[in-house]
Amino acid sequence: MADILIIGAGVAGLSAGIFAAKDGHRVTICEKHSIAGGNLTGWQRGDYHIDNCIHWLTGTNPSSEFYDIWVETGALGNVNVYQPETLYTCLYEDKELSLPKDLDTLERDMLALSPEDAAETKALIKAIKTMQYFMRIGGKDFSEKIGVFNLIKNGPQVLKYHMMTTGQLAERFRHPLIKKFIVAVFGDKFTAMALLTVFATFCGKNGGLPEGGSLAMAKRMAKRFTDLGGEFMFKKEVVKINTEGNYAKSVTFADGTTVAADYMVIAADPAAIFGKAIDAPMPKILEKQYNSPDYIRFSAHHSAFAVKEEKLPFSADVVLDIPEKYRDLMRARSFMLREFSHEPSFAPAGENVFHTMTFIGEKASVDFINLSKDRTAYLEKKKQLAAATQDIIESDFPQLKGKLKLLDVWTPATYRRYTNAETGSFMSFILPPKKLPKIVPTIVKGFKNLLLATQWQQAPGGLPTTAASGRKAAEVIMKLEKKLGNVLAAGKVKKLSPVK
Ligand SMILES: Cc1cc2nc3c(=O)[nH]c(=O)nc-3n(C[C@H](O)[C@H](O)[C@H](O)COP(=O)(O)OP(=O)(O)OC[C@H]3O[C@@H](n4cnc5c(N)ncnc54)[C@H](O)[C@@H]3O)c2cc1C
Repeated sequence: MADILIIGAGVAGLSAGIFAAKDGHRVTICEKHSIAGGNLTGWQRGDYHIDNCIHWLTGTNPSSEFYDIWVETGALGNVNVYQPETLYTCLYEDKELSLPKDLDTLERDMLALSPEDAAETKALIKAIKTMQYFMRIGGKDFSEKIGVFNLIKNGPQVLKYHMMTTGQLAERFRHPLIKKFIVAVFGDKFTAMALLTVFATFCGKNGGLPEGGSLAMAKRMAKRFTDLGGEFMFKKEVVKINTEGNYAKSVTFADGTTVAADYMVIAADPAAIFGKAIDAPMPKILEKQYNSPDYIRFSAHHSAFAVKEEKLPFSADVVLDIPEKYRDLMRARSFMLREFSHEPSFAPAGENVFHTMTFIGEKASVDFINLSKDRTAYLEKKKQLAAATQDIIESDFPQLKGKLKLLDVWTPATYRRYTNAETGSFMSFILPPKKLPKIVPTIVKGFKNLLLATQWQQAPGGLPTTAASGRKAAEVIMKLEKKLGNVLAAGKVKKLSPVK
């Protein structure tokens, strides 16, 4: 049995902790905040709950490869999984186009909207179906229906989408609404394959919403961890990882106390750890991505509103255009509006809560972080963002005019403060076209007992990849334990000691 210390109680840290504790190790997760979850979170503003993470949870379909990880980590518990009718809707003049929960409806709607795009639409739908086969969504019957012959025939059709960006895919369509629809989720710089993955997931009923939302899911995972004997140390920010030769020996917290362990897992943004909390260089593959113009980091700013209306004039996520006059302020051309009417406990009866997500690039994110050092200027900027957002919502849905109550505004500076992510990113890098996905090794080069578990190991991050990185770290520790166990037992590395 080894003593394992995990830095960060996000999904990566929780998953690593759960799988290591299941294997019988003594596991402690230290977290700078007072609760677990990291980005998988939500918070209360008066009578309203703001749910700030899950738009779709890949792996809610029992046939999916990720389903087991959610069951084993307690993420799904016994709660219902809500399957929204649509993931998002785009508007153009008097027309709208949604991503529905089945591909036949999507094909029918796209063909009806734009018959002149029929060839491109059919190729796209075919590729998404093949993607579902690759992702094993739909189970055995579904795979048999697609068949090996179809796979060989359609495989290159799928790869074709990896060679182009979402922006280039949008350009292949003639209808302005379809163009908009294609770039609405990820913008125009991602590989189009990422979009295929999202469509395959959601239309394969594999991207549901666990009841209670993001914070409730984080709490279930935290409970699974403590039920297995794991321990949390909250309000403990690691400021130094102390090393001796090729061993990580102990960590020092911001309050000056230290704790030693046999193995350490970095489950926080590596950019905020390497060269800062540890005198060691960033793993090469990661460093290359951080320095490459292809692997862009992004974040978002948001505004949340309450409204005393039983029924909203939109459902699920709707993409709204940002008019020219607000584009410099908001640093974007569109934003997503998201409602939670499927969660009655998020707002008092007869009322609704909704919020916006405006994706912005790395430069704009860093500008927010820098601005936040001047509190007055930052608060003023947040006020302006909320006013602009409210104006756009009220002009698109005049029936809401004068009825919105602002609940909160949060930005990349909030993410930076909350999770330590260097540029306020809450996902990993965008996945560029033409590049094979790079997977960052779990063991940190130069060390025998220091590991990584984080969304940054595999772009573009997201909850399933993150949970898988945690499970991998626990598996690697199990293997190392066989090799290193004796060395550790001989006292070359100190056992976990109580906080001093
Ligand atoms: C608005 C939003 C929408 C999203 N939508 C989706 C979605 O629909 N589907 C999906 O799959 N994913 C989604 N994601 C992404 C998903 O939340 C992340 O990919 C995932 O939560 C990252 O987990 P992580 O453990 O790698 O990192 P984090 O969540 O950043 O966790 C790191 C933890 O480490 C702690 N920490 C950092 N530094 C230290 C330190 N020095 N000492 C101690 N503790 C430290 C932090 O406080 C944090 O708790 C969304 C995220 C956001 C914010």
